[in-house]
Amino acid sequence: MRTSYSALETYRSCPLKYKFQEVDKIRMPKGVAAVFGTIVHSALNYMFERNPLYPTLDEVIDFYTTHWKEKSESIVWSSPDRKEQEEKMYFEEGLSVLKNFYKKNQPWMFNVVELEGRFSLELPDEKSGTTHTLAGIIDRLDKDPETGRYEIIDYKTGKRMPSEAELAENLQLGVYHLALTARWPSMDPGNFTTSLYFLKHNEKVSVVPSRETLVHTRDFVLKTIREIEKHLQDGNFPPMPSPLCGWCSYQKLCPMWAHEFKEEETRTASDAEVAEAIRGFFDIKKSDDKNKKRLAEIRATLLQYMQQENLARVFGEGGYITKNVQERISIDVERAEPFLKSAGVWEQVLEPSEKKLQTLLSSLPEPIQEEILKFETKKMITVLKPTKKKGGADDEEEDSLLV
Ligand code: SF4
Repeated sequence: MRTSYSALETYRSCPLKYKFQEVDKIRMPKGVAAVFGTIVHSALNYMFERNPLYPTLDEVIDFYTTHWKEKSESIVWSSPDRKEQEEKMYFEEGLSVLKNFYKKNQPWMFNVVELEGRFSLELPDEKSGTTHTLAGIIDRLDKDPETGRYEIIDYKTGKRMPSEAELAENLQLGVYHLALTARWPSMDPGNFTTSLYFLKHNEKVSVVPSRETLVHTRDFVLKTIREIEKHLQDGNFPPMPSPLCGWCSYQKLCPMWAHEFKEEETRTASDAEVAEAIRGFFDIKKSDDKNKKRLAEIRATLLQYMQQENLARVFGEGGYITKNVQERISIDVERAEPFLKSAGVWEQVLEPSEKKLQTLLSSLPEPIQEEILKFETKKMITVLKPTKKKGGADDEEEDSLLV
């Protein structure tokens, strides 16, 4: 199979989206966030190209403005009535990103050795006896002339910055590191730093990947490819709805969104009834939330008054409320662990916990994961999960389980 990091990431976020994009090859027009990302990336590349001098900030801004004017024509706006406002917001954000970036990263301060460098990595899978190709493009590769160390940099236009632990496990950086160590097999894998540059924060986060990460990335990529191949055989690519649906251009083709896009003329009386039921549900939910908030306020008022007046019971029209202070005893298991072990009762104290096991699973070596997965049991349960919209598809709020 020939694949890329972005295709694997798409599969991980939603197998059905992967099918639309990579198997059925359905091309959809780009939304504003994707076009914004492309133009900002192009402007940053232009900034580091010497011809014969590096471009000034004004030239970078001119480049960005010209490309924005050309490309913004092709954007498909999710809500045409917000087009003008959103276009202005994105354009200005791009200007500010580039100005701040240029101020902190004057191009002559860096030794850039490659921009948008393509790679194509052969990955033999001993389990299936096949060899796959993993291709991609690395935004920027720098080399420190003094230490000889390389830095792989990927620009991000998203807001959320990862924690250190997440960064160490970042698949994209792992794949790029794998590609470059394959390109230069005699180089020590420890001679690379991998970085994500968060343009909206103007901050770079970096990690020095270990040899173990290389092995882990390789195993993970092969495991994902095997999974995809299995789905290709059975033809079952399930949808995986998440907040990312808000940015998915395949919503209109997706069964999870079929009801939202049901044509007006095909709606029946049952649709009207369901619409009413949903409205009713959210009305009740709203008043429930209000009640919970009000109860918390009442509790705080009562406790403050009882403390101030030194009272343990207060009376009102509907009854009375008593304050009880109870001692709740719990054992600090962590502190007690050495003793419990020496007393030979530790194994009995440790209750098997599926939650803990699920968390642990992805960090275990693949053969152990496979053994554990033999104990998997499947149970079909029906859950209705309400999701409250706060104004737009991008802005959904997950709620507690209903059933
Ligand atoms: S809308 Fe959501 S569930 Fe449907 S294909 Fe896109 S990401 Fe997957």
